[in-house]
Amino acid sequence: MKLLEVRNLKKYFPIKQGFLIERVVGFVKAVDDVSFSVDRGKTIGIVGESGCGKTTIGKAIIRLHEITDGEILIDGEDTTFYFMRRKRAAEYLKSRYFENEAFTGRANGLEPFEKKINDVYLNAGKSSSRAMSALFENLDEKRRYLRRKAQIVFQDPMSSLNPRMTVGQMLTEPLLFHKIAKDLDEAIEMVRELLVQVGLKAYHVDRYPHQFSGGQRQRIAVARAISVNPDLIVLDEPTSALDVSVQAQIVTLFDKLQQQLNAGYVFISHNLALVRFICQTVSVMYLGRIVEQGESEAIFSNPLHPYTKALLAAAPIPDPNKKRNRKDLIGGQVPSPINRPTGCFFHPRCKYRMDICTREYPPMFKVDEKHLVACHLYSTSQEQGGEKK
Ligand code: SF4
Repeated sequence: MKLLEVRNLKKYFPIKQGFLIERVVGFVKAVDDVSFSVDRGKTIGIVGESGCGKTTIGKAIIRLHEITDGEILIDGEDTTFYFMRRKRAAEYLKSRYFENEAFTGRANGLEPFEKKINDVYLNAGKSSSRAMSALFENLDEKRRYLRRKAQIVFQDPMSSLNPRMTVGQMLTEPLLFHKIAKDLDEAIEMVRELLVQVGLKAYHVDRYPHQFSGGQRQRIAVARAISVNPDLIVLDEPTSALDVSVQAQIVTLFDKLQQQLNAGYVFISHNLALVRFICQTVSVMYLGRIVEQGESEAIFSNPLHPYTKALLAAAPIPDPNKKRNRKDLIGGQVPSPINRPTGCFFHPRCKYRMDICTREYPPMFKVDEKHLVACHLYSTSQEQGGEKK
């Protein structure tokens, strides 16, 4: 079973106008129909230019953003409705499960969570409203469970740590809230151990964030994330605010912790070399959608989408004797996510564009078992035996 499954995730931000009476005049489609999964102990990298929706995905996974559509399953459990308002959650459950033919009392051929809902439905005498009430029971506990299971480390440790709290105060809070420590003394002892685990000193417990360097502050943010023993950690550009030497230490720390916790990571980054080094699978995003997806080595050694080629061509090469591949570089700006181009969103910047590119958004073509790409150039791979996803 996958640790995390994101299915057709959408996050649209409404654009409102008006002073006294606000009207929705459009949407910023920050994330649009994105699907991927993460296994326990594995890392998926999400790469792309600024504004392509990477951070929005991270925040949606841990539900700092309420999602517009799609499903988020953690350990096979549909957690999509946990943080929705009740009316919306009821609509979600109804449309996903109770208007579905599968829920007529049959249990064969259903996924584990569907089976569970099916049991709830049968126990509720096949009444969808009673089944929904049962699912809404203990919702606070379910939310708390999700908060323990999935954590995030932000890009800028200074703004993600409370400057008025000591490290001890910040780190004991989740331990007491989630009842991991039975009292404050035990929590402080656990915080001291956590600090040592992330490479700090136990006596740092009484210090404030401004008394640390950037790398040390990021270690505190990591300690806070792992304090609740999460299964899934979203790492949102966790090294981009740090010096190169400190980056290496933090990456080594992530690796060590992953082996200890067997956690799955969603690694969001601009740093392609780092993504290649630590991720087993990679998703490349452009304007809210995934344009290429697959195993890390397949993507880096044989990039297929013109945008992926451009990203790799633009990455610095740490060898003065090697020449940069300039033929794949692109010009122009990322179009506005409010008013996206028709057809393939990349067509205004793509030198391979064809007529079809301006009319139809390309589906995901399966080039081989390890590699998917959304580009009309590869539609022939489908005709030659590949599959349309
Ligand atoms: Fe370029 Fe067309 Fe492929 Fe889009 S679908 S990347 S415009 S070739």
